[in-house]
Amino acid sequence: MSKTAIPVVETDILILGAGGAGLCAALRAADSGKKLKILIVTKAIIGKGGCSRMVQGGYNVVLNPADSFEKHFIDTLKGGQFINNQDLAWELVTVAPARVKEMETKYGCFFDRNPDGTIHQKPFAGQSFDRTVHKGDLTGIEIVSRLAEQVFNRDIEYLDEHRAVELLFDPEGTRIVGALLIDIGRGDFIIAHARATLVCTGGGPTMYKLFAPSLDKSADGIALLYRAGAEMIDMEMVQFHPTGLIVPGSNTSGTLLEEGLRGAGAQLFNALGERFMERYAPNEKERATRDVVSRCSFMEIMAGRGTSHGGVFIDASVMGPEFVMKNFPGMVERCRDYGFDLPHERVEVSPTAHYFMGGAFIDPACRTDLEGLYAAGEDSGGVHGSNRLGGNGIADSTVFGGIAGDFMANDVIGRQRFPFDAQQVERIIRDIQSPLGREGIDLYPLRTQLRLSNWERLGIIRSEAGLKEGLQLIRELSDKTHQVGIEGTTAYNIPWNDWMNLRNMLDVSELIGRSALERRESRGAHYRSDFPKKNNREYLKNFFIKRKNGEIHLYERPVVFNRLKPEEINFE
Ligand SMILES: Cc1cc2nc3c(=O)[nH]c(=O)nc-3n(C[C@H](O)[C@H](O)[C@H](O)COP(=O)(O)OP(=O)(O)OC[C@H]3O[C@@H](n4cnc5c(N)ncnc54)[C@H](O)[C@@H]3O)c2cc1C
Repeated sequence: MSKTAIPVVETDILILGAGGAGLCAALRAADSGKKLKILIVTKAIIGKGGCSRMVQGGYNVVLNPADSFEKHFIDTLKGGQFINNQDLAWELVTVAPARVKEMETKYGCFFDRNPDGTIHQKPFAGQSFDRTVHKGDLTGIEIVSRLAEQVFNRDIEYLDEHRAVELLFDPEGTRIVGALLIDIGRGDFIIAHARATLVCTGGGPTMYKLFAPSLDKSADGIALLYRAGAEMIDMEMVQFHPTGLIVPGSNTSGTLLEEGLRGAGAQLFNALGERFMERYAPNEKERATRDVVSRCSFMEIMAGRGTSHGGVFIDASVMGPEFVMKNFPGMVERCRDYGFDLPHERVEVSPTAHYFMGGAFIDPACRTDLEGLYAAGEDSGGVHGSNRLGGNGIADSTVFGGIAGDFMANDVIGRQRFPFDAQQVERIIRDIQSPLGREGIDLYPLRTQLRLSNWERLGIIRSEAGLKEGLQLIRELSDKTHQVGIEGTTAYNIPWNDWMNLRNMLDVSELIGRSALERRESRGAHYRSDFPKKNNREYLKNFFIKRKNGEIHLYERPVVFNRLKPEEINFE
């Protein structure tokens, strides 16, 4: 089949990513009773990487009879400012209860209880009912650890510390038949040849100065999906969380201080000691939504009223040190690790890039518009519209990951095994090996430039002029990646991996910028200083991107209001 000397791993189902989405997909496919070969690939170590493991707050799900699917659905649409794909949002809310039950009764997760034995559900921003299931403030560790154990107990193969580099086509160029992988440690290439391929590498807007996602993420899946030609949706929608910890000189800057602090009464101050939220949102103050607080903090910083490290202060001590220690032990410990005393002193924070609402456009079976290719979790888009509610992220990845597992298991039965295009493999390898041994420029200043520029131009506050400048720089930096020189071989070569990461970040930055330019209004996470108002008359629509002949094609479609019309509820 192949003229290349690269080892080929044959599988029925290939799963790229081992977060909530990847693990649930593998388990559901393995339990389908269809005796399929399943291969999980993760850039990290199974059960240890990605953001599902970092989930602190919890999982939104309707369990209480006084709650309803309709309420959760409306909350999700209000949060997303009505540009959500309604079929996907409905799927999310209606499948989540079964998934939580499955995680407890079949996979062994155990969530916090009420005295009567029912699952405890706590309040979270933007919810009309307290529906967030949690395990203390370490919910993600509980979920991912138990799911990983279940994977180890089944006939599921996995490759740790292997990265997917590109999706592979058949020789006709019409079907996805797997992916080219690199064994990060040994530096060997591997072809994963599959009948169905799921991309669920967890998005991750790590192309900004400050970001919250895990360091193994560089928007790889989104870049792979886009480059393969899958239809992408809502790429302008990037969520920023208001309170990323500032740790001067450390890569961990941007890591989250959880939203519950502001909810419970912590206050924000600028460097002049002003409680600035009183000015911007006199009623809600720090309890305003994520996007509003992030924007206000950013405006203070940009106006020169930020701290010397480019942040603002959060003051939790106003709630009383005892209260903080009792209710936020995880946050207290996190701050203590870096030498900050959260219960007693003000701590420097900044908005931090958190989550992609955009990604591959999927149908409710997680199929993309390319044959053989599926997407789930943060690599897919449309569920959350212009803003994701806290607690809907891990619900999304486990719900849709499981659905993808179900459908792939069905779809591969009887599906022909198409060959891969060996010439494509050779082209990719030639391309990605090009910087090795080349005398060239340094990679890291390019990455720093991208992150700083995106922060100011493609970030929390955008304008036509800024976006155009940002896009121009992205194109220049993309050209310069061809001049980068990297020493060493393919084996455990961190700079080489960072170069591949940077290329993916650049591609995805371009998608963000291009979509943001088209949305000449402000909605949810997307704020245009030149169009500061929401414009429902013209912009209840989604922007789509598709790559054709190497070029970006951008087009729009109106939102389909097949379940709820905007005029039926007040979503202002
Ligand atoms: C600090 C933090 C706190 C959060 N708290 C909450 C919360 O309380 N509630 C909530 O609902 N959501 C929360 N979220 C969001 C939530 O974590 C995500 O929505 C969700 O976990 C994404 O799941 P996923 O399966 O898509 O990706 P992930 O769980 O991120 O998994 C991605 C996987 O892909 C792998 N990978 C990446 N690139 C490659 C590659 N090239 N090749 C192979 N593998 C690759 C990674 O190693 C990892 O295994 C939080 C996010 C962060 C960062």
